[in-house]
Amino acid sequence: MIVGVQPLAGFDKLLHYRVPETLRATVQTGSLVRIPILRRHELGLVVATGGAADVPPEKLRNLGAVLHEFPVLTPDLLGLARWMSAYYAARMEQVFEAMIPAAVRGETKLKQEKLLAVARPAAADELAALTRRAPQQAKLYQFLQQQFQPVAKSLVLARVGVTAVVATGLVKRGLAREEARQVERVAYADELGGGELVTALPPALNEEQSIAVDAVRASMAKRKFAVHLLHGVTGSGKTEVYLRAVEDALAAGGSAIYLVPEVALTPQTVARLRGRFEAAGHRTVVWHSHLSEGERFDGWQALVTGRAHVVVGARSAVFAPVPGLRLIVVDEEHEPAYKQDEAPRYHGRDVAVYRAKLTGAVCLLGSATPSLESVANARAGKYRLSSLLRRVDDKKMPDIQVVDMRIEVMRQRGLVTLSRLLVDHMHQRFARREQIILFINRRGYSTSLLCRKCGHVEECPHCSVALTYHRADETLKCHLCGQERGAPAGCPACGSPEIRWRGLGTQRVEEAVRRVLPRARLERMDTDAMAKKHRFRQILNDFRLGKIDVLIGTQMIGKGLDFPNVTLVGLVDADLSMHVPDFRANERTFQLLMQVSGRAGRGDRAGEVVVQTFTPQAGAIQFARRADFDGFADTELKMRKQFNYPPYRHLIHHLFRGPNPEKIKFFAEHWVKRVEAALGGAVEVRGPSAAPIEKVKDEYRFQVWYFCASAARAVPRLVELQNGFAWPPDVTQMLDVDPMNLV
Ligand code: ADP
Ligand code: ZN
Ligand code: ZN
Repeated sequence: MIVGVQPLAGFDKLLHYRVPETLRATVQTGSLVRIPILRRHELGLVVATGGAADVPPEKLRNLGAVLHEFPVLTPDLLGLARWMSAYYAARMEQVFEAMIPAAVRGETKLKQEKLLAVARPAAADELAALTRRAPQQAKLYQFLQQQFQPVAKSLVLARVGVTAVVATGLVKRGLAREEARQVERVAYADELGGGELVTALPPALNEEQSIAVDAVRASMAKRKFAVHLLHGVTGSGKTEVYLRAVEDALAAGGSAIYLVPEVALTPQTVARLRGRFEAAGHRTVVWHSHLSEGERFDGWQALVTGRAHVVVGARSAVFAPVPGLRLIVVDEEHEPAYKQDEAPRYHGRDVAVYRAKLTGAVCLLGSATPSLESVANARAGKYRLSSLLRRVDDKKMPDIQVVDMRIEVMRQRGLVTLSRLLVDHMHQRFARREQIILFINRRGYSTSLLCRKCGHVEECPHCSVALTYHRADETLKCHLCGQERGAPAGCPACGSPEIRWRGLGTQRVEEAVRRVLPRARLERMDTDAMAKKHRFRQILNDFRLGKIDVLIGTQMIGKGLDFPNVTLVGLVDADLSMHVPDFRANERTFQLLMQVSGRAGRGDRAGEVVVQTFTPQAGAIQFARRADFDGFADTELKMRKQFNYPPYRHLIHHLFRGPNPEKIKFFAEHWVKRVEAALGGAVEVRGPSAAPIEKVKDEYRFQVWYFCASAARAVPRLVELQNGFAWPPDVTQMLDVDPMNLV
């Protein structure tokens, strides 16, 4: 028997091995194996059975070992890996690395627990003798005798107050026996109240929900691939639709994957899922980047062996090796967090759709603000659309009030952090003991140091961005490379003391709120304040318990949180997401406004949203104010069509970086000519040009854009050309297919 093995590191090439007699029973396609390569032993994945045409079998070396008794990738995942490698221009080994958790690639073992039990009853005189000669052993024996079943050794020893030596003595005497039991480390049990589950009876579905659930159910019953797009305003009960769909998948004997943009930000969703399914006897595995290796391994093993049928997790959970996949839910499908920003640069949502296609499963995408890619697919009839237009119980959508900051600045003179309207509302809510959330999508105190005399803006010496002022420790920090230094007292260029801090950050907003509401209890939530682990969950908990009046934070607090007592949400600077060189800037702004306003008025009282902007007439803001998703989508799609941007064509970003800008430019220009000559008809090339941030960590950056009708066709040809091009060693390149982050 001969197998083809894809090494996991170093070799991007299929190698062939002979399978020794002893391993024949365990080796399968998808098995993780140890293989000899030259003098070393490496990990590899069996991707095919059968020999190589060009190597005579007697020359082949033997397979070393098989790591787990079950294959680590299901057949559909092997197919998915090939597609990802071709589509995202990633090496197979990178794809496998993303698919197979490190805990599985490593040697993590199942955790075993030792148990103690009585081996045989002791006669009365034997016990008496034992009590005299070894009183501690006697004490242990008497304790064990009172137990109904074997008990964890560590627990027994602590209870009885004896050491392990005593237990060993008792075992030697034949009175006690030790046995091993496999224990599972269950992630999240502690964070969610020691495994205490939120079990609520499922509500009766309203009409819109029923229609959506029925549509998904009909697709699943056909056992054919289908994509459903659930467009439901915030608070319309989308999660309930997802839960019913998962129930259907389980009832049909299948399994389901439930993706969320970021598990740490959605503890409520995780608790709801576990509450619903574990109560019904279905273990729910939580997949999360902060899990310990042991937790990952155990959860993964429960899935691969078919003991658990539901997995909830971020992006990489799309690779969960579940047998019998029937459904993949992608919650908040528009979220850029689904895109991985290192190789393989895959989009979790798109991979979910493709995996569903490979397995004949149903993919259920949902959002209050679906991506325009998905909207276009629904309008083209490729995705089946269901809409939830009203909030559950017909709760009102919050009123959005837009403040024109140009007028505000004239009235208040100078830099304004909080408009009078926002301040008035804050006073009212605080007086009524209702809660307030303020969003500002920038951490730090202010964006930059600006000299009033010479106009100098202090930049990072290693990156082409302005430094951010952090007041707490009086420093200037670079948010790209992390470099920091003390804030100067005067202008570094001309020495003038007339320096000003320009722009807003979370810290400055915090300071303004303290001035306005000195007695309010407030907390700031951004990556600076969240450096300590668990702090995040603690703040959310305190907020839920009403121990915090005002929560200030970056967008990270905007996701999926449901606090009934929040009646006022302020977006301090809506312009931050709007005026960036990204064709999705409008879409991002609209999404931000809609998501943010979804946080207000979740309880019985109506909510209000105040949006501060210097461009109140902007389409994204006006459509959001009227909560007019379709109007926004129509207008924006028309514009995208006009410029032939995604979703009408695919976009590929090619970044070149290195220490020598002239050299990069020279080679990039040559490269572009080559691409145009070879692929001119299929690909439109733009560039090379300097990247929006020209320098990061002392490396210069240039970029080229490719527009094409089919990335699946264009990317492999680009890669082929790239491999045949003589690049200098100090120019590093990166291809990003369907990029989400353009700056
Ligand atoms: P979304 O995910 O669309 O923002 P959720 O699914 O979180 O909305 O629903 C909002 C709230 O409404 C939740 O507390 C949920 O339990 C409740 N809910 C959902 N569907 C119903 C229903 N049919 N009847 C009553 N309450 C419901
Ligand atoms: Zn100056
Ligand atoms: Zn820097």
